Amino acid sequence: MSERPQHPQHLVVVGHGMAAVRLVELLVGGGWIEQGHALTVIGEEPGPAYNRILLSAVLEGTHDASSTVLRDESWYVDRGVALRTGVRVAEIDREAGEVVLVDRSRVAYDRLVLATGSVPSLPPIRGMVRPEGTLHERVHAFRSASDCRGLVAALADRRTPVRRAVVVGGGLLGLQVARALGARTGHGAVVTEVVEGAEHVLSRQLDRNGAGILARDLARLGTTVYTGARAVRLVASPQPEHAVGVRLDNGHVLATDLVVLTAGGRPSTALARRAGLDVRRGVVVDDALTTTDPRIHAIGDCAQHAGKVSGFVGPAWDQAAALAGRLLGDPTPYAGVREVARLRATGLDVAVLGDPEAATAAAGEVVEMTNPITRSHRKLVVRDGRVVAAALVGDLSRVGLLTQYVERGTVLGPHEPGDLLLPEKRTGSTGPADLPDDTEVCACAGVSAGAVRACGSLDDVRATTRATTGCGGCSGTVRALLAARTPVGALGG
Ligand SMILES: Cc1cc2nc3c(=O)[nH]c(=O)nc-3n(C[C@H](O)[C@H](O)[C@H](O)COP(=O)(O)OP(=O)(O)OC[C@H]3O[C@@H](n4cnc5c(N)ncnc54)[C@H](O)[C@@H]3O)c2cc1C
Repeated sequence: MSERPQHPQHLVVVGHGMAAVRLVELLVGGGWIEQGHALTVIGEEPGPAYNRILLSAVLEGTHDASSTVLRDESWYVDRGVALRTGVRVAEIDREAGEVVLVDRSRVAYDRLVLATGSVPSLPPIRGMVRPEGTLHERVHAFRSASDCRGLVAALADRRTPVRRAVVVGGGLLGLQVARALGARTGHGAVVTEVVEGAEHVLSRQLDRNGAGILARDLARLGTTVYTGARAVRLVASPQPEHAVGVRLDNGHVLATDLVVLTAGGRPSTALARRAGLDVRRGVVVDDALTTTDPRIHAIGDCAQHAGKVSGFVGPAWDQAAALAGRLLGDPTPYAGVREVARLRATGLDVAVLGDPEAATAAAGEVVEMTNPITRSHRKLVVRDGRVVAAALVGDLSRVGLLTQYVERGTVLGPHEPGDLLLPEKRTGSTGPADLPDDTEVCACAGVSAGAVRACGSLDDVRATTRATTGCGGCSGTVRALLAARTPVGALGG
């Protein structure tokens, strides 16, 4: 059933991150304000909303902070959207239909959208938190623009030079941060060590073979990885030239100048839980992205749909689009989380479709090729002739095709999975410009090669499809597709 309201309604969005901005853009573009409805966005972080994924590029020095801004304040003013930043929603009063802000002021809603994202979980490292509750001056979390500013300032502070850093957590975010620190341009690279409690890096996405290829890449790029070891205590540095030491549970102490915490996050659900909504790992929503209260929806990292929470921007944007559609009168149900994880890190190429480890455990047939010489790993999990999950390290040239196979449930012939493991032929027409129209090129926004070809310029691609505006991993392919159809010099952006 369509959610399209019959009477003027006030929609309040809690959170001003990547999902919220997408929702607001789509509602405004679809005529929400023109139809006489009101829209208020309340975000805890001060300043404009930004592309969180690009924070590691700011850390690396390839982007400045201003290039991560999604929409500035004037954009909201010009479109009649009320924006309140730097203020947290403390409570939802469902009976009154109001949200209560930390300053105890109240904002009434007819409908409420929770887009509160996730919160970093801090690993239990003794000595890391000072008695007053703040992190030790040499320890930084990495999730927000403010964390990023703090880290960049620490790296630039000449009084406390940073030559070495320890990154706690060898997941997608940890590797992103480690590579950003190692590849920092213009300020001197930092020697980086990664500590990961599991037996290998990216343990949630890769098997031992895939992670082995990645570990070799990291070593080649100058990053040392300690696996099967947990950081347990902040101690004095064993070397006078470094500021602190990180003791591991095997007794080893790493001398360092900086510690960055990237060991996971969890959906931000406290508000929903206190309001009595159904919360498991995330805020539980149905196919209409509605919680157990019909007036309250949830999207993005905080939401749990069909038992899954995502943690990636692609699903957050899909959910924003599905909810905006419903509110504007399109009853199409949300089809579920597209599971595509891509590592955005200089010199490291990893893409994971679905959950290869779970799919393998659920009696999937594994077709796999690991080539340490070319530093590539491809693993497909096949069930009843369909690719249900895949992991690629090194060479990502087949990611578009595989995404298509996974999403469409294409039944392959007996030789096809094996053929997909082989490198593409070096001869003939196999460049990005030759991709079939229906091949997905942007995993964040779910954009096909044909949709890019239909655009006149890079700016047009960004505005109409959102390709390149998420993790940016598709930029090269998009440029190649445009270049193949656009005279040189007309690309812009
Ligand atoms: C450093 C980093 C790198 C990443 N890299 C990638 C990547 O390469 N690819 C990818 O797909 N994903 C990546 N992600 C994940 C991606 O950023 C998230 O999936 C995406 O931001 C989800 O959007 P969201 O709006 O749900 O949450 P967020 O963008 O986190 O926004 C939530 C907002 O809600 C605010 N909020 C929370 N509670 C309240 C409250 N009570 N009142 C008011 N405001 C509140 C928060 O302060 C925050 O600003 C990365 C994340 C980080 C941190």
